[in-house]
Formats: sequence, structure tokens, C-alpha cells
Amino acid sequence: GIVDWEAEVLVLGSGPGGYTAAFRAADLGKRVVLVERHAVIGGVCLNVGCIPSKALLHTAQVINEAAEFAEHGVRFGAPEIDLGTIRAYKDGIIGKLTGGLAQLAKQRKVQIVHGEGRFSSPNTVSVETAEGVKRVRFEQAIIAVGSRVAKLPFVPWDDPRVMDSTDALEIEEVPDRLLVIGGGIIGLEMATVYHALGAKVSVVELADGLIPGADRDIVRPLERRIKARYESIFLKTQVTAIEPREDGLLCRFEGDKAPAEDLFDRVLVAVGRSPNGKSIGAEAAGVSVDERGFIAVDSQQRTNVPHIYAIGDVVGQPMLAHKATHEGKVAAEVAAGQPSHFDARAIPSVAYTDPEVAWMGLTETEAKAQGIAYQKGAFPWAASGRSLSLGRDEGLTKILFDPETHRVLGAGIVGPNAGELIAEAVLALEMDAEAGDLALTVHPHPTLSETLNFAAEMAEGTITDLY
Ligand code: FAD
Repeated sequence: GIVDWEAEVLVLGSGPGGYTAAFRAADLGKRVVLVERHAVIGGVCLNVGCIPSKALLHTAQVINEAAEFAEHGVRFGAPEIDLGTIRAYKDGIIGKLTGGLAQLAKQRKVQIVHGEGRFSSPNTVSVETAEGVKRVRFEQAIIAVGSRVAKLPFVPWDDPRVMDSTDALEIEEVPDRLLVIGGGIIGLEMATVYHALGAKVSVVELADGLIPGADRDIVRPLERRIKARYESIFLKTQVTAIEPREDGLLCRFEGDKAPAEDLFDRVLVAVGRSPNGKSIGAEAAGVSVDERGFIAVDSQQRTNVPHIYAIGDVVGQPMLAHKATHEGKVAAEVAAGQPSHFDARAIPSVAYTDPEVAWMGLTETEAKAQGIAYQKGAFPWAASGRSLSLGRDEGLTKILFDPETHRVLGAGIVGPNAGELIAEAVLALEMDAEAGDLALTVHPHPTLSETLNFAAEMAEGTITDLY
């Protein structure tokens, strides 16, 4: 049949994985076609994920700090909240970034085709564009179709008071009482935003703790702080039904300490994300997709079909933007004939809550479960002059070392800016740094970064200098 575009490398999906792969392949001299069903490129992360949530979380942080500032001797009045301007500010940031991406694509002569793409053979994709179905023939393809919100079956989604993360980021209104279903990173970040804007927040989590993947000691300071501020946190609890009523959403609970039912003005469902691998006609190309929609790849991001690669959320956990971008580079480089592999030893996770919770590498929970020996250095921020200056004392920096080689195995940090601080620990792990390297590296004083220095000194038994 007729082919509308010929691509040396076709990239399906323009999220952080897809645009990174497209740009890298173009920089390596490939003729690239990037297919995206949305009108703007950037994927979940830029449009309805990482970036808008962080813009709103900054607003929340300023509101919270102002409210607690009286003890520093300065009192601010009650905040006057203008949701229209908050939304416009957030959308402005997204616009700058997606506009920048479009510019970068143009400079590299990456052809963007807008429309839903599906494989029609091992070397063609058909795209449903506004001008009808177009065909792209490719030599190699990179699948970067990401993930979507996982939907609980009993939820009345057509009720506008029921929100997923995308709806919640639109902050149409601040409800009086908000129920957040799911105590993972996304649910807790949105809870932080709505609480700061004035909502009474309740959180329901099925597991026996918030942020189930992280060690309890680095989640506890967050748990303690929000327990004191939110209406309720129900652990080991599930919502079994949501009944729309005129005066609110009646939610039924099953679990530990929750009431049988309660009425909320809005409900946010944040129970995870599902990969998009099932809706791309993968079978026409011979690409294997598992029953959940994930696509298996090797360390070069190749699927079972050697000239087709997959990257990002669609290849599995952790579903994080920085994993997608690194995988995107590898896939593009391999497609261009380079011997690249994805061999990261640690991928950091961050909850941008207040306080932030960040971890990477081996957790203490995993070490115990797997019988891995470790030596621990843990430094409480109550002894950090910088943290106390910020009016905060609940943080903790914990680093796990191999007891024989003293090399870094993992780290967990909780406190303001933990997400920035964890990067040093990742670098230390990747560089095979030993406790002594972190202990002997001169860190600026007084900073929160010193807490890594001190944690290493505590593991080494050489700590002398505090505050
Ligand atoms: P996506 O970003 O999901 O992009 C896939 C793209 O493919 C989409 O644009 C989609 O429209 C397109 N597409 C899908 N199917 C087709 C098709 N058939 N044809 C054409 N186009 C198609 N991660 C972090 O690391 N840090 C954070 O702070 C963070 N915060 C988040 C907050 C929220 C509220 C959410 C929801 C997610 C957050 N994430 C965060 C996760 C992050 O957004 C994802 O890990 C990341 O976007 C995955 O990138 P990707 O390239 O795999 O795919």
C-alpha cells in the first residue's frame, strides 16, 4: 500500500521515554518519526504528571511554611486562594516545557505525526490522524506508550466529584472533605496539595503503611506529620463502594479502624497505573505483551522482535520518568548501532510530600527479608543546624553499607529536600563509593547535604563534628 512517511526509527509515544529516544536517535543521524495521539508532546510526565504536580506542591509548601512561620516571629495572614491563577501558573510551566520540546524536535527534523498509532505489520504503523489513516514504514521502532490511570471497577466515574490524578491536577474546586483512595506517592502528593488549599483530607490505604515500597523509619516522620493535620488515615482498609448522593459521595469502608461509611465532597482514586501495551496492535508486529499489558525487554531494551524496542512505563516498574529517559537513550543508541545497555544499579524514588521521602538501592526491609548483611549509618536531622534553621527537626538520613567492603548498598532520606539529597547517594552507589569516601568528602556547612557525610561517619564510628 501507500506509505506516507519512511522512518529509520519510529517512536510510538512522546513521553519522557519517547521524546528522549527520538532526540537521541536524530542526534545520531537517524531519520525519526514520532507518533503521539495527544495534541501536545511530553506525555504523562509533562502534561498530567511530574511537572504539574510539582508546580502545585510548591504552592502547598509556601502556604504551609507561611502558616507555621509565626514561631519564627513573623505572622502572615490567612492565604487568599485564587484557583484560576494557580491553574494558569501551572499550565504556563507545562506550556513552556512542551513548547521547548516542540522546538527541540523541529531543530532535529524529527517528524511528529499526531494520532493513535497501531502496528499493522512488523515494519509498519498506521496512525489515525485528523486527516485520516496514515501509514509509516520503519526500519526500527521504539515503543514508548507509557501507562494510564488504573480504574477501580465499582467507582462511579461519570460523577464529576470522582477524580483520578489528571482530574485532581485541574483543581476545579477545593472540596470541604476529600477522600484519597491510595496512600502511595501520587495519592499523598495530591493530598498534600488539597490539604494546603484548605480541604479536610482522609486517606485510605490497603497495605499496613503509607508508601509501601519504602522503609518504615523514613516514612514515619511523614506519617506523624500528616496524622496530626489530616482528618484521618485508614490503613489496612479498602473502599468497597461509592454511592453518589446529592449531598456528597457515600463511601463504604472495610477494614481496621474505618467507619462503615462516610460522606465526602470529592474522592480521588490513586491506586496505581496500568501499562498501555495492549492497545497498539503489537500482535501484528509479533511483539509479545503480557496479560497486564507490559512488554518484556532485554538490557538493550529489545523486545522479542529484534528491531523493535520498548522503554518506560510500558516495560515495567518502577514507573518513573527518569527510568524512562535513560531507557530511551539506550534504545536509540542501540538502534543506531552502538553497544549500549541499561545497567543502572539503582533508580531513586521520591515522594514530594511534606516532608519529602526518598530512597534508592537496597532498603533495610529488603536486606532483612533476603538475609543480606549490612552496616547502617543513620543521622537524625534534629542534630542538623540547617534543618533546625528551617524550623524542621523530623528528618532522617540513613545509608546502608556492605559490612565487608564498606560500599554503599542503599539509602533512605526523609525531610525537606530529601529528593535533591538522594542523588548524592545514587552517585556514591554507582561509583562504588565506600563509607570512608562519603565521610572524608568535605560537605558545605551548614547544609542538609552534610547529613550524608554524618551518616557515613556514624557507620564508620568517626563522627566528631555536629551542628
Ligand atoms: P508516558 O509519559 O506515559 O507517555 C506515553 C505517551 O504515549 C503519551 O503521551 C500517550 O498519549 C502516548 N501514546 C500511548 N499510546 C499511544 C498510541 N497508540 N499512539 C500514539 N501515542 C500513544 N515520575 C517521576 O519520575 N517523578 C514524578 O514526580 C512523577 N510524578 C507523577 C505524578 C503523577 C500525577 C503521575 C500520574 C505520574 C507521575 N510520574 C512521576 C510518573 C511519570 O509520569 C511516568 O513514569 C512517565 O511519564 C513515563 O514515561 P513514558 O515515556 O513511559 O510514558
